[in-house]
Order: sequence, then C-alpha cells, then structure tokens
Amino acid sequence: MENERASASPPHVLIFPLPLQGPVNCMLKLAEIFCLNGLQVTFLNTQYIHECLLNCTNIESYFQRYPSFRFETVPDGLPEDSPRTAHEVFNLLDSMEAVSVPLFQEMVTSGPYGPSSEKPITCIVADGIFCFAVDIAKKIGVPLLYFETVSPCGLWTYLCLPKLIESGEFPFKGDDLDELIVNAPGMEGFLRRRDLPSFYRTKNLNDPIIQLVLNEDRHLPLAQGLIFNTFEDLEAPILSQMRKIGPKIYPIGPLHTHLKTRLATGGTTSSSIWKEDRSCIHWLNMQPINSVLFVSIGSLAVMNKDQLMEIWYGLVNSGTTFLWVKRPGSIVGLEREFEIPMDLSRATKERGYIVSWAPQEEVLAHPAIGGFLTHSGWNSTLESIVAGKPMICWPYFVDQQVNGRYVGEVWKLGLDMKDTCDRVIVEGMIRELMESKKAEFLQRADHIANVANASVSKGGCSYKNLDRLIEDIKLRTFSTLQG
Ligand code: UDP
Repeated sequence: MENERASASPPHVLIFPLPLQGPVNCMLKLAEIFCLNGLQVTFLNTQYIHECLLNCTNIESYFQRYPSFRFETVPDGLPEDSPRTAHEVFNLLDSMEAVSVPLFQEMVTSGPYGPSSEKPITCIVADGIFCFAVDIAKKIGVPLLYFETVSPCGLWTYLCLPKLIESGEFPFKGDDLDELIVNAPGMEGFLRRRDLPSFYRTKNLNDPIIQLVLNEDRHLPLAQGLIFNTFEDLEAPILSQMRKIGPKIYPIGPLHTHLKTRLATGGTTSSSIWKEDRSCIHWLNMQPINSVLFVSIGSLAVMNKDQLMEIWYGLVNSGTTFLWVKRPGSIVGLEREFEIPMDLSRATKERGYIVSWAPQEEVLAHPAIGGFLTHSGWNSTLESIVAGKPMICWPYFVDQQVNGRYVGEVWKLGLDMKDTCDRVIVEGMIRELMESKKAEFLQRADHIANVANASVSKGGCSYKNLDRLIEDIKLRTFSTLQG
C-alpha cells in the first residue's frame, strides 16, 4: 500500500548536500534545473548553512518562483561558533552522523516525506561522502544517486586506494614524492605521489581519513547512479574507468553554466554563505583587459603567516595587478598587532584590491581578469575553465592536488605550484602566466572554454546526459536497492 502510494505520486527528489559552500553551490544549481523540468524538490540544508544563506542572499524569495521547491533543515550538532573550516570537516561528519542522520531518516521514513505521507520521496540525491544514505534509500525502497562534487579525476584516486594498498604502493615507501604512481589506471606516466590527495602522505593505514575513503569506495558502487560535475571531453579517460564500477554515470557539468543555458531568461541567484563584496566589480571595470590576477583559496583552505608573506611578496614583486579574496578566518596564527610591512601596503594600494568574499563566477568571467591563483577546488577550477582563465594552482587538500596536476600537465591550462609558495617561485609563475606565456595560455583556455560551453548547449554531451538523468528520475528506470 505504502509502495503503491509512492509509485503513483509525482517524482519527488530529496537533495542532501554536504553542508559546505562548494557542494551547496552546485547542488542548488541542480535543484533549480530539476524544478525547471517539472520535478518536485526538497533541499535539505543544515540549519547553520541555511542561516548563512538567509543572511547573505535572497535565496528563499528567489526560489519562491518554483512552487515545487522547498527547503528543509536539520541541525548539524556542532556548537554555533564552531569555525567549520577544513580542519573541522571530521568533526562535522561525526556530529552529523549522531544528530542530523537520525532526523533525516525519520523525515523520509515515518515523517513528512515517508512512503505513506502526502509527498513521498521517490529519489534521493546525496553527497558521495554520505555512506549512510545507502541503507536509508534501501529502507524506503527508492533509488539513490550520489552527487560527487569533487572532480572525477580526484575521485578516481580515491577509488584506486584498495589497489594501491594491495600492490604495496600505498603507504609510500621512502620519502620521494616525485615517484610515479603505477596502480591508478588512466593516470599512468604523469601522476606522481605528490599529485595524490595530500592525505595519502600518511604512513598509517588506520588514519581516519583513509578509513573514510575506503568506506566511501565500498558504498559508491551500491548507488543507482553517480552524478558528476564535469564534461565528457575534459575527463573522457577517467569517465570510462568510472563506467566500469557499476552504477549509471551522469556527467552533467559544468553545472553553473549548464543552469544558465536552461534558464530562458536572466541569471540565477547567489548562494554564497558570506556577504559578497560587489565593489570589486566596479574596480575591475576600470582595469585593462586580461590584466588582473584573481587570488582566492576558496571557502575552507587556510594559510599561515609565513605563507601569507610569501604569496604577498610574490604578488607584489611580480608587478601584476591583483584582486585578492582574504576570507575571514583564512589566515591562521596572525598576532593581533601584526603590522603589514610598508612596501607591501604601498604596492597593494597601488596595484591591488582586497575583499573578504567576491562574486567569484562573475569575477572570473570579467574581461579584466587574466589569470587565477587558486587552491584548485573543483568548483573554482570549473568556473575558471568556463571563463577561459588560465590558473596557477596552489592545492590545499582532498581532490585539489590531483586537479592541480591535471591543470598543469594534462589540460595545459596553467602552472601547478604545488607544495611550495616561496616568493621567488610565486613571482616567477605569475610572470609566466601573465606575461611571457600569456597568449599561449589564454588561447588554450579559450579553446577549452568553448568545448565546455558546447557540452552544456542543446545537443552537447552534458545537456543530453542531464535530459537522460531527468527522464530516468521521472520514469523511475532505476532498479531500487534491495534490502
Ligand atoms: N567562492 C565565491 N567567492 C569567493 C570565493 C569562492 O563565491 O570569494 C565560491 C566559488 O565560486 C566556488 C566555491 O566558493 O563556487 C568554492 O568551491 P571550491 O570547490 O572551489 O572550493 P572549496 O571552497 O570547497 O574548497
């Protein structure tokens, strides 16, 4: 009876992102595309993220245009003032497991979206790190689609971990980080130890993050589908490896630009969890074309005072004009009375502009931007690719080390600065990107941007994959997990 009601009711997707800026950004875009295509969507945020969105954006009033959309929230269980930066991600996951997951489970079983409710969930889209979703989807008999918001090339290095352990390649023997990796199919010949996610540098197989990755590796193949924010032409060799692991795969990116092609008119709304300082757009309007280097390390990464000084001197000594996002909390270990050296503050006044959070997509698309010094988060990388802007990669963690290698060595879209930020190297790389090899990099970036845009236009691969995904959800052509 319950199942009958669920199968007779309209398709209703519950989307549950990892409560961090990057995943929330792209899952909201997917949610909007689903609404445009007639699906009911319930978007489950943690209360903390939801409040940040309410404080910094007009997201709630914006989504009122879609009667089939609603937000729901659950607490993440962390104290209000917890910083929720990269170092806190484990605490966040543990706390969600204890507090948020039981509430989520109740919501979709006996609660307002359970099988015997008025609006039963017919499909769950959850972040790939949420292993608990497998059992819950099984319990209510609906398909589970994992949305992997890290890059497929990064995810593939997670999925290769059992093979790396079995072959004795991991944990690394000795300290040579330049040794090539052999047991990551599709990455032979260019992936070095230092290009694997930084957590692979542990010698301890029982390291909690290694155990977390192995757990994710066991759960991913149990889903009915894997959604990727990428496009076929960018990562074809890795996507063909992914196809071997079982579930249907849906490469539908770059999502931020895909949404724009699906919207008949106008742009979408911001989903920033900090207030965007739009004054930088007016400043950019006054700068010459391709003259400004944009500098940002995303929403989670941090740097210490020494790194800050190296990057800052590198920037200033390169003579480039720069727009720099110094996110609150992103610089650790600064004494309160820290005084900015005179030469830095003078040069920054002359050639720099600093904001605490920028409308990044719009900044990258601005004609004045000529390059991006980035921590190589996957959203930032895709936003840069779409905007045709070459990158200097200074990866911090998770998939970012892999992304930096792909940018530098495979896609030839910039330079991978990895594992150093010495001021002389920073200066040299900026000069290369913004001066000596500028034309070459811009030409290459322009080419890949065109390929990215074609993939999300009618008839393109990502466009077709997204249509297929929506059809599969509507027609329920997935087999559901068996209990
Ligand atoms: N972002 C932004 N303004 C900023 C810096 C970042 O809007 O000043 C956005 C950026 O556009 C991207 C997201 O924050 O969509 C960061 O995600 P990413 O995957 O690049 O890195 P993470 O923050 O997860 O490390």
